[in-house]
Amino acid sequence: MCAKIDENFCPLCQQENGCMAHSDERCWCMDVKVPQALLDLVAEMEQGQACICRSCIEKFNADRSKFITALGD
Ligand SMILES: [Zn+2]
Repeated sequence: MCAKIDENFCPLCQQENGCMAHSDERCWCMDVKVPQALLDLVAEMEQGQACICRSCIEKFNADRSKFITALGD
């Protein structure tokens, strides 16, 4: 039970999340409110480890039912 979590990649779409939280620059993710329902989609062990990327947040906010359906494929 020690799957490697790469904090640079979005746990939902496996694309680079572009998070700057681990650098000296301020990250966009600190200004964005991530919906709890979206966080709930992230596996428990990945929560707090890797940031969800901005495009996933935008897609979720645009049409959450379509987003969740796409994840289930
Ligand atoms: Zn993503």
